[in-house]
Amino acid sequence: MCYPHANFVYHAATALYYIAYMFDRTDYNSPWLHILGLQVRRLSAADYRAMDERGSAASDLTAPANGSPIRFARNMVAHLLTGGLDFLKVLLPLSIFFYRFLEWWHRSDFHKKAQMTSPPPSPMPLKPHPDGLAVPEDQTLCPICKESRTNPAAAPSGYVFCYPCIFNHVSDKHTCPVTLAAAHVNGIRKLYSDS
Ligand SMILES: [Zn+2]
Repeated sequence: MCYPHANFVYHAATALYYIAYMFDRTDYNSPWLHILGLQVRRLSAADYRAMDERGSAASDLTAPANGSPIRFARNMVAHLLTGGLDFLKVLLPLSIFFYRFLEWWHRSDFHKKAQMTSPPPSPMPLKPHPDGLAVPEDQTLCPICKESRTNPAAAPSGYVFCYPCIFNHVSDKHTCPVTLAAAHVNGIRKLYSDS
């Protein structure tokens, strides 16, 4: 019930702090910072000078002339550790990026397309049987009637004949005339485009 009032008071206080901060009436730009005692202000030339002095004092510590070799070694280790941390700062985002990229790659279609570029190997053709019919040199001829194929059809062995020739042969002998492999008329396939 009192939430709207509290909310209003909070926002009004924040706005007042902002306005007062803009006109330099307060050192704090938000009530929370006032409670915490934190001041937000622009760095002045004096601040930069103070930081430089502190920096040069720190680098003096690493000089071997100013301390014992043990101290020098300790400072070197500290420097190396900071260097390692800086290196990790670069390496971690890079490795995360790389990991996300791999994840995306494996989920995307690019991955499947790249795999599909290598076609599967074609199956080995059945070898003609020594006792079977010879396959004519001219691949467009029917091995049974030795004439140009009419109404081409393939036996289950893969060899192509005229449909009437192979149908009659398989109904009679139940084998492929070339390979002598077992065949059934149901296994004869009509070719709709003769290759
Ligand atoms: Zn034929």
